[in-house]
Amino acid sequence: MPCQVLVAAAAAAAVCFLMSALGVTAGAHRLWSHRTYKATTPLRVFLALANSMAFQNDIYEWARDHRVHHKYSETDADPHNASRGFFFSHIGWLLVRKHPDVLEKGRKLELSDLKADPVVMFQRNYQVLLLCFLVPMLVPWYLWGESLTVGYFLPGLLRYTVVLNATWLVNSAAHMWGNRPYDQTINPRENRFVAFSAVGEGFHNYHHTFPFDYATSEFGHKLNLTTVFIDCMCYLGLAMDRKKVSKDTIRARAQRTGDGSNKIVLPEVLLKMKISAFRR
Ligand SMILES: [Zn+2]
Ligand SMILES: [Zn+2]
Repeated sequence: MPCQVLVAAAAAAAVCFLMSALGVTAGAHRLWSHRTYKATTPLRVFLALANSMAFQNDIYEWARDHRVHHKYSETDADPHNASRGFFFSHIGWLLVRKHPDVLEKGRKLELSDLKADPVVMFQRNYQVLLLCFLVPMLVPWYLWGESLTVGYFLPGLLRYTVVLNATWLVNSAAHMWGNRPYDQTINPRENRFVAFSAVGEGFHNYHHTFPFDYATSEFGHKLNLTTVFIDCMCYLGLAMDRKKVSKDTIRARAQRTGDGSNKIVLPEVLLKMKISAFRR
């Protein structure tokens, strides 16, 4: 039945999307770039394989670029400097040579933790391209006789393109459109569309304000499949030591530097005013 065939191929594409997206968000980003939680070797191996399926350079290079991005955001040393426009921050930065400042500042970064992780260095030396295209094509063919053409174009090429663009939207759209509830002095924004498409990475004003928070958001699992995944891994004993910012710290920061759009700030302020008025 053609309809059943399409559903099976779409399901394979969805599974490959989720796996490769988590390889970037839970792996290269939250684990290796920011060290927001710890992972056991089996989980690190899974995330490295998933990251290879996403094929966005290797983990070491991804994490180095990302650390430079956070440290020198919106300057020439930022690899995808959003002040150079949407196209450059989305994909253009990958089409040209890196600015000399990116290379210079990148060389000075502390990366010893990445070099000390055998999983990261193995993936860097033996980046397996097969995982990006051949596995998504061959597994459906082997399991239910999917045509190799459909396997190559749907879970392979289309899924790869969607994951790439979802990731790039964090560097482009989430640095341009949205509110800034936590720090209005920086460019990164809260963007729900990006949060949805990049499985939880669109709460970008929060993330740049509190980069060490494993959830990259104050709202837990809301639009945040990556946080759901990390919590499940903790439940299974494969991850531990999640770093989280306290609500009080978030509130204080939002009141001090936010743009006033943090919905939770106002009721709390009013509540405190009521309590102090009552005490008088
Ligand atoms: Zn980050
Ligand atoms: Zn950013």
